[in-house]
Amino acid sequence: MTKAPDFHHQLLVVSGGNAGLSVAAQLPLADPALDVAILEPATKHYCQPAWTLVGGGAYDIKDTERAEGDYRIKDAAATFEPEANTVVTASGQRLTYDYLMVCPGI
Ligand SMILES: Cc1cc2nc3c(=O)[nH]c(=O)nc-3n(C[C@H](O)[C@H](O)[C@H](O)COP(=O)(O)OP(=O)(O)OC[C@H]3O[C@@H](n4cnc5c(N)ncnc54)[C@H](O)[C@@H]3O)c2cc1C
Repeated sequence: MTKAPDFHHQLLVVSGGNAGLSVAAQLPLADPALDVAILEPATKHYCQPAWTLVGGGAYDIKDTERAEGDYRIKDAAATFEPEANTVVTASGQRLTYDYLMVCPGI
């Protein structure tokens, strides 16, 4: 028997990187009632384009770092079960969704 989900969200975004944060921030502007969750293991998000300016000495690397918010689920996607609208995380949580966005970078 399949274990019951630990959490269900209308939209589950796998990653709090550039793409994930952009979508998770923009969609609720169109529908504030939308239930969006971000699944992201990292504690920090870095503005990578600014790193070229860091290398050139025009920018402080500390200014390229932001804390990932407490709103995100701090875990990593390990297994996708699309037939069950489920993502299983590295720690074994089962997250179900109506819609899934997957953008874990390169
Ligand atoms: C030095 C440098 C300079 C750049 N300059 C520019 C520029 O001038 N202009 C430009 O347009 N672009 C630039 N880029 C590229 C730009 O930063 C990337 O294209 C962009 O960050 C990609 O966004 P993304 O959301 O796909 O990935 P990312 O922002 O890398 O996010 C991926 C996220 O996925 C998470 N993740 C990974 N695995 C999992 C998992 N299993 N479960 C959950 N989450 C997971 C990671 O922790 C990460 O937070 C530059 C990049 C670098 C390195």
